[in-house]
Amino acid sequence: MNGELAATLLATARAAAACRLNAGASGNVSARHGDGFIVTPSGLPPEQCEAADMVAMKMDGQHAATITPSSEWRIHRDIYAAFPDAGAVIHAHSPFATALACQRADIPPFHYMIARFGGDSVRCAAYAAFGTAALSENALAALAGRSACLLANHGMIVHGHNLDHALAQAIDFETLCEQYWRTCQIGPPVLLAAAEMAEALDRFRWYGRPRRD
Ligand code: 13P
Ligand code: ZN
Repeated sequence: MNGELAATLLATARAAAACRLNAGASGNVSARHGDGFIVTPSGLPPEQCEAADMVAMKMDGQHAATITPSSEWRIHRDIYAAFPDAGAVIHAHSPFATALACQRADIPPFHYMIARFGGDSVRCAAYAAFGTAALSENALAALAGRSACLLANHGMIVHGHNLDHALAQAIDFETLCEQYWRTCQIGPPVLLAAAEMAEALDRFRWYGRPRRD
């Protein structure tokens, strides 16, 4: 196992907890590694883990660890298989995303930042029990063309180019969910038109690649 990557993975899981994206043992984080990936262990809060507890897995689900890998390893594996650009995945039970996920509804284009996640909505995956292949199948369907989705009555999942990017995406997505929740308290928001979302999607092709030179 790559010790440096395992330490960064654990640091990211701890940062997700510090940002209140996850509490206790909820959620899980992974990073692509070689022809497989490294994922957080099952049922352990990140504060109680060491880097050596991170589990290196092959794409067929095999591993040599004595500790059990995340029960959601299939979602992580299936995202790496389906999205060649995905370098890291974060699953969270963050408060606002989870509150919305319990409504089993897609998030419409109420804000241009919806386009940050690849389309003109963020879909909610159909419900399936945690840790099942069915949940992974539902999540992958909801993620088609997207880098985030809600999981019905469960939480959210995002992927990014690397661990830092995935954490930034998770924070942006949870913020967006809070904003949607807040505007819905006032009344149904005005939604962006298809052409306005198409323009936002186009602008995200170059936005967010800052250069310091
Ligand atoms: P693990 O502790 O097995 O990663 O499970 C947490 C979780 O969020 C299940 O959906
Ligand atoms: Zn979960």
